[in-house]
Amino acid sequence: MVAGGPLTAYRLPLAEGWERALDILLLGPPGAGKGTQGALLSARLGLPKFATGDLLRDAVAQGTALGRQAKAVMESGALVSDQIILGVVREELAKPAAAGGVVFDGVVRTIPQAEGVEAMLRDLGRRMDRVLFFDVTDEEILSRLDKRRSLEGRADDDPEAVKRRLDAYRTQTAPVLAWYEARGAVTRVPAVGTVDDIARRVGESLGI
Ligand code: AMP
Repeated sequence: MVAGGPLTAYRLPLAEGWERALDILLLGPPGAGKGTQGALLSARLGLPKFATGDLLRDAVAQGTALGRQAKAVMESGALVSDQIILGVVREELAKPAAAGGVVFDGVVRTIPQAEGVEAMLRDLGRRMDRVLFFDVTDEEILSRLDKRRSLEGRADDDPEAVKRRLDAYRTQTAPVLAWYEARGAVTRVPAVGTVDDIARRVGESLGI
């Protein structure tokens, strides 16, 4: 255990669990590195990572009812409805594994989602303790998504869908940053440099 830092109180182990739950939201444009950093952070804190994008892609791959509902919207680069997202978040929060807190990766992308998730956490006596905003320029995003498209072949990394995703980000998700900033829980992380550089900044911003 590292002594000192704002998260010390959360990191004191109590038997198998934590002193209290710790909920962290990773926010930022597509291609900002939330998935990569979320995986590292979740391993470091010993908390589960929950990414609605991953869950929806799995549902599409398995052809479930959820996947059939989400497929066309996702491929177009638009956002899946708030109702669907809040439904999957509710299911996730009900799992025993989520009781100690969650690293939420790209889970909140509209104001109604922010309000809905906050209400669910409140019912559990929790709140979004920290929001890490991954700050990166449009040029960098476009070049990263182009690279990812050639490596992973994600349908929504094609240029038209990327345009829609950036549009959705600007109009629907950017206001979420201000919503959390008004609650004083946001830390900006410059999301440029190597994976290690960014992971170090993430750690520093959380005091771990
Ligand atoms: P991602 O992997 O995070 O880029 O998400 C891929 C796609 O899944 C997005 O472009 C949306 O269509 C959908 N999606 C994931 N999370 C959300 C969310 N919280 N709200 C609405 N749509 C989402």
